[in-house]
Formats: sequence, C-alpha cells, structure tokens
Amino acid sequence: MEEILRLLYSLQTVDTKLDELEELKGDLPEIVKALENDVSQVKDTIKEKEDIITTSVKTRNKADLDIHDFKEKLEKYKSQQYSVRNNKEYDALTKEIDFAEQSIKDLEAQFSDLEKTMDVAKNEITELSQKLEEAEKNLEEKRKELAEVSKATEDEELKLTHEREKIKVRLQKDILPRYERIRRARDGRAVVPVRRNSCGGCHNRIPPQRILELRTNTKMYMCEHCGRILVSSEIAESVTTAS
Ligand SMILES: [Zn+2]
Repeated sequence: MEEILRLLYSLQTVDTKLDELEELKGDLPEIVKALENDVSQVKDTIKEKEDIITTSVKTRNKADLDIHDFKEKLEKYKSQQYSVRNNKEYDALTKEIDFAEQSIKDLEAQFSDLEKTMDVAKNEITELSQKLEEAEKNLEEKRKELAEVSKATEDEELKLTHEREKIKVRLQKDILPRYERIRRARDGRAVVPVRRNSCGGCHNRIPPQRILELRTNTKMYMCEHCGRILVSSEIAESVTTAS
C-alpha cells in the first residue's frame, strides 16, 4: 500500500506540473479556436453574397434580353396597327401592345431591383473582406504566440507526460479512474498530504486517531470533508525529494 500511495502522490505532482504548463498557455488555445471560427464564418458569408451576385447577374441579363424582345414586338405591333382591316384585329393588336408594355415595365422594375440587390451585396462584401483581413491578421498573431509558448513548454511537457505514463502502468487499474474522478471534482487535486494535522486540500482538521492510522501508510484514507485521497507527510516528502 505504501508504494501505491507514493505512486498516487507522484502522479498528482506530475499532473499539477502539467496543469501549470497548460496555464502558461492561458486562453490562447481557446482564442485561436474562436478566431478560426470567425474567419471561416466570414468566408462563408462572403461566399453567400457572391452567389447572390452571380444569380442576380444571370436574372438581370435574362430580363435585359426579354425587354429587348418585347420592345421589338412592340414596334412590330405598332406598325401593324396601320394596316388592320377591322376592329377585331385592331383590338387584338391593342391587347398585345398593352401586354408588351406592361411586361417591359415589370421587367425594368425587376432589372432595377436586381441592380440594387447587387449593389447591397457588393458593399457587404467590401465590408466583410475588411473584417476577414483583420480577423486573419489577428489569428496569425495569436497562432504565433501560442506556437512560441508551446515551444517553450514542449520539452517539459514531453518529459512529464512520459513520467505520467510510467507511473500509470505501475498503478492498479481501478485506482486511476477514481483518481481522475476526484481530480475533476476537486480543482485538479485528488491526492493531498496531511499538513499540521489537517487535510492539505480543504484544510479541515483530521481526528488524531486517523492521523496515527495514516502514518502507518497501510490503507487508503479519504478526507471525510472533501473526499480527496490523503497521504502522510512522510510519503509527500519522500516523493518531493525524489523528484
Ligand atoms: Zn479535505
């Protein structure tokens, strides 16, 4: 049991150091992720606006052709009006002329609406492109910062991770999940030493009888207040001197 307690405290020491290294990086990993998200969102929106312009150009060109066709027809109808033989023919032609004139009006309205839509989209793209440029510049900077911090901590991190693996293989399989669970629930600290007859985690007093039992290092005790695994100060000291 003494060996297990020692390993557990070693694991805790390594994990605490790894947590500290992670803290050095601060919010940088999250900031980089958020900026990457921003950049890809702005890119998507720009693509949407470009699609709107492409579709609008097609529809506008079609409207332009149709206007041209109707105008030609209109001219033809108007010249035919001079050579009609009866009222019926005249009425029929008038109907065609009305229809062509209304169609031209509608198409011209559509044409100018599309021009407006395209103008709006173009302005939005200009604004978005500026935003994109800024976001990309910002992302570049934060990525560089993160890379620098990571480079500085990389060796240490590698060493600690390796040490962690070595400890893990020597620990019983059922202890590890328990350790991880307490660590998650208790601020990253699952194993704490006894300090001045109190729990090194929550600082609550430990009954004298329990202190005596703890000193024998023969059983795993948990703090009855915070649930952390307690080790005697002797175990803690032996780990600290060894590392
Ligand atoms: Zn406690």
